[in-house]
Amino acid sequence: MFELKTPVIKLNRVGKNIAQQIKKLGIETVDDLITHYPSRYDDYSEILSIEDFKNKKNGTIKTKINLIANHRSFKKNMIITEAIVSDETDSLRVVWFNQPFLAKNLKTGQTIYLAGKISEDNQYGLQMTNPSYETVSDDLTHTGRLVPIYPSTAKLTQKQIRFLIRQIIPVTHLIEDWLPRKIKTKYNLTDLSFALEQIHFPSDKNWLQRAVHRLKFDELFLIQARNQIVRKKMKQKESLVIKFQEKETKKFVDQLPFKLTNAQRKSAWEIINDLGKGTPMNRLLEGEVGSGKTVVALIAILNVILNKYQSAYMAPTEILAEQHFNNIVKLFKKRPFKIALFTRGIKKINVKNEKDGKKISKAEMIKLIISGKIDLVIGTHSLIQENVKFKKLGLVIIDEQHRFGVKQRADLGKKSNLENNYLPHFLSMTATPIPRSLALSLYGDLDISIIDQLPIGRKKIITKIIDAKKSSLTYNFVKNEIKKGRQVFVICPLIDPSDKLGVKSVKEEFQKLSQNVFPKFTIAILHGKMKAKEKEEIMKKFLANEINILVSTTVVEVGVDIPNASVMIIEGAERFGLAQLYQLRGRIGRSNHQSYCFLMDDNDDFSKKNIVQQRLKALLEAKNGFELAEKDLTLRGPGEMFNTKQAGISTDLKIARLSDFKIIKETKQAAEEMFKIDFNIENYPLLDKKINDLFLIDHLE
Ligand code: ADP
Ligand code: MG
Repeated sequence: MFELKTPVIKLNRVGKNIAQQIKKLGIETVDDLITHYPSRYDDYSEILSIEDFKNKKNGTIKTKINLIANHRSFKKNMIITEAIVSDETDSLRVVWFNQPFLAKNLKTGQTIYLAGKISEDNQYGLQMTNPSYETVSDDLTHTGRLVPIYPSTAKLTQKQIRFLIRQIIPVTHLIEDWLPRKIKTKYNLTDLSFALEQIHFPSDKNWLQRAVHRLKFDELFLIQARNQIVRKKMKQKESLVIKFQEKETKKFVDQLPFKLTNAQRKSAWEIINDLGKGTPMNRLLEGEVGSGKTVVALIAILNVILNKYQSAYMAPTEILAEQHFNNIVKLFKKRPFKIALFTRGIKKINVKNEKDGKKISKAEMIKLIISGKIDLVIGTHSLIQENVKFKKLGLVIIDEQHRFGVKQRADLGKKSNLENNYLPHFLSMTATPIPRSLALSLYGDLDISIIDQLPIGRKKIITKIIDAKKSSLTYNFVKNEIKKGRQVFVICPLIDPSDKLGVKSVKEEFQKLSQNVFPKFTIAILHGKMKAKEKEEIMKKFLANEINILVSTTVVEVGVDIPNASVMIIEGAERFGLAQLYQLRGRIGRSNHQSYCFLMDDNDDFSKKNIVQQRLKALLEAKNGFELAEKDLTLRGPGEMFNTKQAGISTDLKIARLSDFKIIKETKQAAEEMFKIDFNIENYPLLDKKINDLFLIDHLE
């Protein structure tokens, strides 16, 4: 018998080829295979007579083979296996393409099951094409049941995957159910091994549904349980008390070149309250692009510095870090704070009356930070990688990446403080507009602040849906904007051309625009397959207005502030999620230039036209990202709006979705009940292990 850790290569009839294909799916052991869940099922559970099958067009038939033979079709250049099958009610032509071995495997006179759909051939009339077949037995895998269809590679057939998984079903019975019985009873959940068997080879739709529920519950419950543990541990930790510096804070706010919005005030106040509590803050600040999160963070930083502690501000890229540095130095201009920029490429500190600051060596920088002379370090991940130590780190701000891994967070906390053994306060910031209701259910370990209004006086971005066939008018308009000195983003769904989909790609558009449409302008491309350094170079040039048009994939979503870019053309707009469109568009409209966004709709399918237009319209009408997200949540569920990564879930969900809102709530409740005051995880060793395997919780110690 196989075990969970048995390598797949040891299974029956697995040779090098299959093993290689399987590996491409990320599967190496029996364990991996068990959680390779079907993506859907073909319902061939009804076993029909040929007569009924011809009516229903879809199902399984039990038939006798009257005749079977191969012949070559010269027109299509392939081998066709042709059979005539029959039962008491009727007979039927069956064809398979390019599977010549079938004529040997299947014999005239044999009775078999065939599962599939009926189709109409011009010459022969009704026939069955490429059906699955199976010899008659009680234990059907490919026919006469809900047949699982798996995610696969081109070279691995469904039949092969099913055959593999069939072999390892007995192993599922070795898996101990780690979910406490109490929870199973309360939430009416099936046993784990049963669910695992049913998800692959369901007895019927009802059991399948229960299996799906159990497995989704498992994934979401583990996240919730982890959240509860983290929350508990954080609450037990000590952190420093940052006393609110009311007078200085007021002065800072009064000196800003603008008036804070109410949402900014409220968020800042929530943060200040957390900082004073003596347990580590773990707060998420949500606010769409341009809503002014930075200044809220600065209010927190100001208070931390005035309490004589250090702060670290982590940005996702070097340019973004540098931009923050310049910005923040300006806003703190009147104060004697020492501010540093620490990225792989640049290390500098602010100097009075010198706009660009002063470059220093890495060694000098590290010395300044460890001695506590630097009040605020703005940097990238290299801050963690380079093992920088702080003297007394009080606050860590993580921008645009709201869930820094638990491990990274712990790394920063652990090594950071020479003087004390406390955890710094954490503030994460994100522009993903996750509605409060969902965020609250999803992040049991985080407190949430939301900035749900934009500063007043922003010019509205003029947004238009354009039929892609009429793009020339748009191009003329764009030409004029560039002549006025503005810059343009062109966003495409793909990097490389793809003939199949007819979807616009960065490389094709670049060709077209630079050769035919805008030969006189400087055009560059940007996409995720480029090296980080190349990307930064391009962005720097774009920022310096050395590039007129940037043709890009969605990598600009989290990017720099290019105030001079005032036009965005989004190709294949109907292919992007609403939140994505919203965030993309947020890259423009960041200055006093009137900005324009053109959503190019090249959907030709008339039946879909309406839906696409409706979706794009929702974007035109939404007052802010949260309203849009909330609308989308009620219309379609959150699955549409953002993926799990954007939502900050660090494990990959194999079966649960963010749209499983009901189960998310259910699991949160279950986890909260379980982790009530005197709960001890050590009484549940199986669960404890499961959580640790997934999330490496210990690193928080
Ligand atoms: P984000 O939330 O995307 O990080 P930023 O903090 O970069 O937004 O702010 C965007 C711009 O808006 C900055 O130039 C900032 O100075 C400005 N800003 C922030 N708050 C306000 C406000 N209340 N009124 C006017 N402008 C503001
Ligand atoms: Mg920002």
